[in-house]
Amino acid sequence: MDEKIRADFPILNDIIYLDSAATSLTPEPVLEAVLSYYREYNANVGRSVHRLSQFATQKYQNAHRKVAEFIGANHQGEVIFTKNTTEATNMVAYGLRWEKGDEVVTTLLEHHSNFLPWLRLREKGVILKIVEPTKEGIFDIADFEQAIGARTKLVAMTHVSNVLGTISPVKEIAAICKDKGSDTLFLVDGAQSAPHIPLNVEELGCDFFAFSGHKMLGPTGTGVLWLKDPNGLQPTLFGGGMIESVSQDEYTLAEGYERFEAGTPHIAGGIGLGRAVDYLNDLGMERIREYEERLAKRLLEGLLDIDKVQVYGTTDPNERLGVVSFTIEGIHPHELAVMLDEAADIMVRSGHHCCMPLMTYLGLKQGTVRASLYLYNTKEEIATFLETVEGIAKVV
Ligand code: PMP
Repeated sequence: MDEKIRADFPILNDIIYLDSAATSLTPEPVLEAVLSYYREYNANVGRSVHRLSQFATQKYQNAHRKVAEFIGANHQGEVIFTKNTTEATNMVAYGLRWEKGDEVVTTLLEHHSNFLPWLRLREKGVILKIVEPTKEGIFDIADFEQAIGARTKLVAMTHVSNVLGTISPVKEIAAICKDKGSDTLFLVDGAQSAPHIPLNVEELGCDFFAFSGHKMLGPTGTGVLWLKDPNGLQPTLFGGGMIESVSQDEYTLAEGYERFEAGTPHIAGGIGLGRAVDYLNDLGMERIREYEERLAKRLLEGLLDIDKVQVYGTTDPNERLGVVSFTIEGIHPHELAVMLDEAADIMVRSGHHCCMPLMTYLGLKQGTVRASLYLYNTKEEIATFLETVEGIAKVV
């Protein structure tokens, strides 16, 4: 990527940011879009008839349309703005009708936000089945064939692991849901895929696709749930803005995304997310993917070359994206993260990455250090990062 992009992220003048899997940086055009809402047309949406409100409503609607196009949802379903992936997965857990004996199939690779909502359903008599990947984070499709059956109401799995960076075989699993369960629903957690690879939810074959706007250059407090069948899910919040009509005894729900966005939404955030999508489209998702692949390869190979460094997850670049977990023998991951910050202004995440069951499975009580890339990182930054890690590994 070029210098022009770096100029959109002035924060990068002072730091090396390798924590985009947690949240991405926000480019100037997105900040401008957020500010211009507040400065120029600050009004509620879908309510008043005055000019300002109409303008804000149109911008907010456009942002939904842009996001739908971005994930290839042009013909089907509804894009709902949420505050993050966590809210999106919980909306599915709360919005489906569960019966005792229903089964949910999930995996050991999941972020807590795609695990706890299903674990909690056990209180309603729902049976949770957990498919294990190999220690490298690779799944055996046969395990899903075995786990998914006539009682499976939902399969919920991540598209890309936020710890190991591995890519899950979601298309194959969508096919199993159709073959084996016929009405088995499929939720894909796209928090780590939507920002980095071209997407088409219709081709993936899922029923729900959840992701975070704040991990793809959007403002914090933004996320998305795409629903294939808006009539197949009950809203979780009820109140203003989501109804067609209300009497003393009953109500009729609105059509469209409004049904699922009760109350005043994060208007500026949603508009900012629409601008983030424009930004990503201008660069091209295929180009972003290729660029990040090259950086990820350097990062992975460099780490594998350093003595005392242990890298987790598959080393096959075709099976993974630029999220790399590692440890250095004899240093606590938090200590290492602080050392990287102090030595070279490098920001990485350390600890369990909200994936405690996976950490236990991998025998990593203290977790790992995770370096995660995005389009604004450079090969020079990767070189500095590797040199710094090597220097630290030498002295411990
Ligand atoms: N799923 C995955 C795979 C993630 O990486 C994350 C964030 N680390 C989440 C879900 C939760 O995202 P949020 O905090 O935006 O709800």
